[in-house]
Amino acid sequence: MDHLSLSPGSVAATLGQRSRAAVWHPCTRLRPDDHAVPLAIVRGEGPWLHDADGQRYFDATSSWWVNLFGHANPRINAALAGQLETLEHVMLAGCTHAPAVELAERLSALTGGALGNVFYASDGASAVEIALKMSFHYWRNTGLPAKREFVCLRHGYHGETVGALAVTDVEIFRDAYDALIRRAHVVMSPDARQARRGESAADVAARALAELEALLRERAGAIAALIVEPLVQGAAGMAMHDPSYLDGVRALCGRYRVHLIADEIAVGCGRTGTFFAWEQSRGTEAPLPAHAWPDFLCLSKGISGGYLPLSLVLSRPEIQRAFVADELARSFLHSHSYTGNPLACRAALATLDLFAQDDVLARNRDRAQWLADGMAGLAADARVRHVRQRGLIWAADVGDDVAGADFAARFHHAARARELLVRPIGNTLYVMPPYVFDAAQARWLGERMLATLDDVTAGKEVRHAA
Ligand SMILES: *Cc1c(COP(=O)(O)O)cnc(C)c1O
Repeated sequence: MDHLSLSPGSVAATLGQRSRAAVWHPCTRLRPDDHAVPLAIVRGEGPWLHDADGQRYFDATSSWWVNLFGHANPRINAALAGQLETLEHVMLAGCTHAPAVELAERLSALTGGALGNVFYASDGASAVEIALKMSFHYWRNTGLPAKREFVCLRHGYHGETVGALAVTDVEIFRDAYDALIRRAHVVMSPDARQARRGESAADVAARALAELEALLRERAGAIAALIVEPLVQGAAGMAMHDPSYLDGVRALCGRYRVHLIADEIAVGCGRTGTFFAWEQSRGTEAPLPAHAWPDFLCLSKGISGGYLPLSLVLSRPEIQRAFVADELARSFLHSHSYTGNPLACRAALATLDLFAQDDVLARNRDRAQWLADGMAGLAADARVRHVRQRGLIWAADVGDDVAGADFAARFHHAARARELLVRPIGNTLYVMPPYVFDAAQARWLGERMLATLDDVTAGKEVRHAA
């Protein structure tokens, strides 16, 4: 379809064709009769991306949820330029450097010191595997080697390497590799869309907790950890749940001696309104007491502002204490070549500086309201249902009758013709823009999303009400 919207022989079309031949693109079907070429982006500025033909696109999904403060942010650029002049990389085994130390200290401080001992890696899936391995190894080191199973939520997503797929319940990513995977226990998701007549989101959360407790009562002696995406299950289609679920899992994991891993790779860094989504687990603004935090917390995506691959795992101090020993077998010998890369850590420090200097969390409360107002027209449209928002993530579902086949791909292409870069998940429309838009841009975004839905569903009869 794309080739239709690009002028043949244009710079963008040519680069796109060369890319099709030379680059194996992620999350992309290779269909025999498909001539679609990827969009050749040459430049970014704020929320905008520009292609090789001079067309612009609003990056409404923050380039796969990583970008926080816009493209080519002058302050992050300056921090990186400074770091480039001093140290680009050094291995973190036996060496250290100020960016890695400062970033770990500042993140730990953001948890009130409840979590720390930052372990660095490069991508989200690696951070998840590190947390899984650390949990398993902790129990072995503390005399409970039978605790080696994991629990994840229905439709949860934690990355696509073989280890991370074990706790990922998304069929399209997992099923082809099922024979390679040691599957985790999958328990009910607290996804509020499952509410039965008369049930609130908190009631759904309570049902999900009851199912989890039934499993733990029976098998906790064999279970190392539970992994959850707090507040929003992103790849499931921005499935949102009541915060009471988080406090509930914290209590259950404590009671049954199972580690709790919060995967904040997508929802961390201010996306849901607080710096860590977990901070909303008690429904109050008061700082969480140490025992209310998870045992492990994974960050990636936004932590480097969307600049460089960086991921990390924060954990409770007692976790690391179980690895202090003379025997080699008790040590955590995991490593990645680019662990704690100074440029990536510097980008992360510049990102934290922006949060502090610009009072970003407070300004994002305004932005969340602008987003709600901007999307109000689409929210009221009879073609969508389950309209939901948490901080700067807005989502709604289009019914199968209206969507038709290949809805996500058709919407993506139609949106491009309207200067919008979006990738629906199945029939779920969502936007999660960088934290740099104003009220007028939020209105523009809502209008263009609605107009794109008109383009894609033209001629379709609306059968269900919102
Ligand atoms: C993106 C994501 C991951 C995986 O991160 P990668 O960097 O893509 O490996 C894991 N968990 C969640 C919740 C994510 O959104």
